[in-house]
Amino acid sequence: MTTLEIKQAVKRYPNGALAVKGVDVTVEDGELVVFVGPSGCGKSTLLRMVAGLESVTEGEIVLDGRLVNEVEPANRNIAMVFQNYALYPHMSVYKNLAYGLKNRGTPKAEIDAKVREAAKLLQIGDFLERKPSQLSGGQRQRVAMGRAIVRDPAIFLFDEPLSNLDAKLRNQMRLEIKRLQRRLGTAAIYVTHDQVEAMTLADRIVVLNNGEIEQIGTPAQVYGAP
Ligand code: ADP
Ligand code: ADP
Repeated sequence: MTTLEIKQAVKRYPNGALAVKGVDVTVEDGELVVFVGPSGCGKSTLLRMVAGLESVTEGEIVLDGRLVNEVEPANRNIAMVFQNYALYPHMSVYKNLAYGLKNRGTPKAEIDAKVREAAKLLQIGDFLERKPSQLSGGQRQRVAMGRAIVRDPAIFLFDEPLSNLDAKLRNQMRLEIKRLQRRLGTAAIYVTHDQVEAMTLADRIVVLNNGEIEQIGTPAQVYGAP
């Protein structure tokens, strides 16, 4: 059972910019929550605070009873998927998937089993020896997701993961992300500026505006019943 609590989170950057102004959200076990809003509304800042990549000026972010910024980065049970994939260009797909587990000291046989299972789930099993430069955009996105899955995280964080893909692939990968998240039952936060993505993916939508929650509810509550 995973619970992520964002409690009165505030972010003031060193230059004085107030990017997040007291946000309260709890993500329940298995839930997919989408943060949606225009550019500059504070979505990425909030997500980066949850990931422990950005300090929290005020308030608390608690994952399963522990403050995220007090957990060593290597021990944070969080996996993030970025829009630019952030794959290691000099490593094969296999090594990209194995890297985080290897760093944790996971036994080789277990790494191999997890890498192959994730690769199968994502249908990238035939590309394990390729470098990222030898893959299509959609395949790179699958590798990025595979890298998140092998870690068996308590929560997935998606930061506009589909914005570098063309419209057709975006639709396909969106469905894929939903299918995987459901199948794995892992809680997730998904950040996007795209209302269609929010509507079709979310169990719950958090509409952000100017660093504050404007609205929070199911897709039907936020955008009206279809
Ligand atoms: P979004 O992801 O919704 O586009 P961001 O979280 O990136 O929004 O940004 C929220 C606000 O914080 C914006 O006004 C942005 O200019 C500002 N901001 C983001 N990063 C920094 C930074 N490192 N230093 C100062 N201000 C920042
Ligand atoms: P490094 O230079 O990082 O030590 P290695 O070439 O030793 O990299 O590979 C890292 C590990 O991943 C090794 O244990 C290697 O056997 C394993 N490995 C790499 N690609 C594959 C693959 N396709 N199938 C099985 N194991 C692989």
